[in-house]
Formats: sequence, C-alpha cells, structure tokens
Amino acid sequence: MPREDCPLDKSRLGQSTWGLLHTMAAFYSDNPTDNQKKDVKTFFDVLSRLYPCEYCAQDFRKDLRENPVQVNSQKDFSQWLCQFHNRVNVKLGKPEFDCSKVNERWRDGWLDGSCD
Ligand code: FAD
Repeated sequence: MPREDCPLDKSRLGQSTWGLLHTMAAFYSDNPTDNQKKDVKTFFDVLSRLYPCEYCAQDFRKDLRENPVQVNSQKDFSQWLCQFHNRVNVKLGKPEFDCSKVNERWRDGWLDGSCD
C-alpha cells in the first residue's frame, strides 16, 4: 500500500480523477447554459491532453473522438461518463458498473442509507 504522502501512482491518480469527474457530473445542471456546456467540453479536451499517464491519455483522446462528451443535462453527462469509465474498466479487465446507480454512488448515497 503506497504511503498517502508519496507521489500518486497510476491507480491512485485514476481513483482521484474519477472521483472528481463523477462528482462534477453528479452536480452538473439539469439545464446547463451554453457556457457551461462549452466549459465541460473544453475541460475534457484539455484533460485528455494533460492527463499524466501518456498511454492512458492517448486512449482517452481516441475515445473522446469516437464518443463525444454529452453535456445537455446532468443525466446525459453522468451517463456518458459512466459509460466512458466502463470502457476503461473493460480495457483493464475490471467489472462494469451498473450505470442506473451512478447518482446513488456519486450524489445521493445508497438507497439502504449506508452513506448517511
Ligand atoms: P476506479 O476505476 O478508479 O474507480 C473508482 C470508483 O469508481 C470505484 O470504486 C467505483 O465505485 C466507481 N466506479 C467504477 N466504475 C464506474 C463507472 N463506470 N461509473 C461510475 N462509477 C464507477 N489505468 C490503466 O492502467 N490504464 C489506462 O489506460 C487507464 N486509463 C485511464 C483513463 C482515465 C481518464 C482515468 C481517469 C483513469 C485511467 N486509468 C487507467 C486508471 C483506472 O481507470 C483506475 O482508476 C485504476 O486502475 C484504479 O482502479 P480501481 O479499481 O481502484 O477503481
């Protein structure tokens, strides 16, 4: 287990990044303005160029070209992100996440109250 105060390895970098991205999508507007939509597209475009794992970033850019980020609503953005994360999960041999539960995981907490 790497120490908390050491540089991030690929796994901890990924966990932290997914946490930020899914939380951004969880609290995105249901009725975003044109500027908010543009900001999300720009954010992903820049992140896919600067993500500090070169081969991850290469696949990230290719995926974004094939599956452009969906920014028209909170539902569209969070579902698109869940599907994108699942494509990375499949590539890495990890189980796919059930995207119908994405708001429970990242916004509302589990229905059984275990996050309360
Ligand atoms: P993570 O995949 O980090 O997930 C964190 C948490 O998110 C999970 O515990 C789960 O609760 C939740 N979750 C899982 N799937 C979903 C989903 N589909 N939707 C919503 N929530 C979900 N690593 C590589 O080795 N090679 C790569 O090419 C690579 N590319 C990456 C590209 C990006 C853009 C990012 C952000 C990360 C990438 N990573 C890559 C890192 C990798 O995805 C994981 O973060 C890392 O392997 C740690 O995995 P983990 O099992 O701890 O959970």
